Amino acid sequence: MTQPKIHQITVPTPYAVGDVHCYLYVNDTVTLFDAGVKTEEAWNAFQEQLKEIGLNKEDIKQIVLTHHHPDHTGLIGHFDHVDAIYGHPIVDLWLKQDDHYFKHYMNFFNKLYNQFGVPHQFRQIDKTVQNAFKFQGEGRLTHTLLEGDDIPGLPSMSVIESKGHAQSHLSFYDRHNGNLIAGDHLLKHISSNPILEAPLMGESERPKSLIAYRESMQKMDQYAIDTVFPGHGETFKFNSKLIAHRLKRQEERAEHVLNYLKENESTPFEVCQYLFPKHYEKQFGLTMSEAIGQLDYLEEQGRVQPHFDGEVLKYTPCKTFSI
Ligand SMILES: [Zn+2]
Repeated sequence: MTQPKIHQITVPTPYAVGDVHCYLYVNDTVTLFDAGVKTEEAWNAFQEQLKEIGLNKEDIKQIVLTHHHPDHTGLIGHFDHVDAIYGHPIVDLWLKQDDHYFKHYMNFFNKLYNQFGVPHQFRQIDKTVQNAFKFQGEGRLTHTLLEGDDIPGLPSMSVIESKGHAQSHLSFYDRHNGNLIAGDHLLKHISSNPILEAPLMGESERPKSLIAYRESMQKMDQYAIDTVFPGHGETFKFNSKLIAHRLKRQEERAEHVLNYLKENESTPFEVCQYLFPKHYEKQFGLTMSEAIGQLDYLEEQGRVQPHFDGEVLKYTPCKTFSI
């Protein structure tokens, strides 16, 4: 077997996060991990770098997607010739722009935002979905992946479910050399946003993204990870201190929220305004996700409890909890 080689390809995005990385994994076959965003600039940058590596797009035989966000799937439409496109089943719901799913998605968020006390001007779920459609890839998965599945052509690669940033998130660990293709699960310079999502159709409970993210972070310690190849920012050597640091920072933020709630019984929207007074208007989806994440975490620990005040949920500290 050829020793595998990883090439990074970096393309611009229209998002605040900046550039996104794709990875070409070259062994006996050529696999593309993630596919940038659907813009002309991204496709031009991709082609240029592919040429510098000395490959043609026809050399790419299969595509593996870490999650459904548009900056990771965008260019798949340029690779009609590939034998396979792999990803989590939820990725396919987005790629095929499933009508039923999005009706359910919007209904769910409308109800949820009523409960969270979100004013109408901030409810732009339809815009968020349309925007995702605009920049995401056109195509379908040929195969779905879940934890523990094998990927043909990548015999040393383990599929790790790493929910949190997205419910569809998978990371890929090479048992041979400790490389981790991490998508947006592990980044060096920033912590990933545990983005609020609707449950799948037929499921009633909302995914608790921050709690899932914490579990997925803790899971990373089970693997002998050497180098992390992330979706954004620098490639870096794995260190379990990074996980501990991220978890601690989150716990500190939760403490901050708890102290606020001791003085102010609050809706999730009010907690969002408190945590991000300067950013909540422009980055409503991300800041709201973070706020409800902290409340979910505190509730799971039995430190806060929500109650309905009319139609709106308010959170208060649990009286029985003592430090
Ligand atoms: Zn993402």
